[in-house]
Amino acid sequence: MCILHLLVEFRNNNMASYYVNMNKDDKGDNEVHISGCNWMPAVSNKEYLGEFYNCNGAVSEAKRRGYNANGCYRCSRSCHTS
Ligand SMILES: [Zn+2]
Repeated sequence: MCILHLLVEFRNNNMASYYVNMNKDDKGDNEVHISGCNWMPAVSNKEYLGEFYNCNGAVSEAKRRGYNANGCYRCSRSCHTS
């Protein structure tokens, strides 16, 4: 396998598509999810954030857009604070 293939594999294995729930939960948080999470909101209630290596980048991007972002307990537990 050439180095380019390795780099592509590394990228694919470590980046994920993240979405934010446009509706706040009962604590007033907008949950951030990885694409494919079972707790993802319905299509009409989510906004695509982009591809990130981890939930920290996704939560930062959601906050930049004005959301009270917090990681999903199920798929982004390291960013789940409340
Ligand atoms: Zn989730």
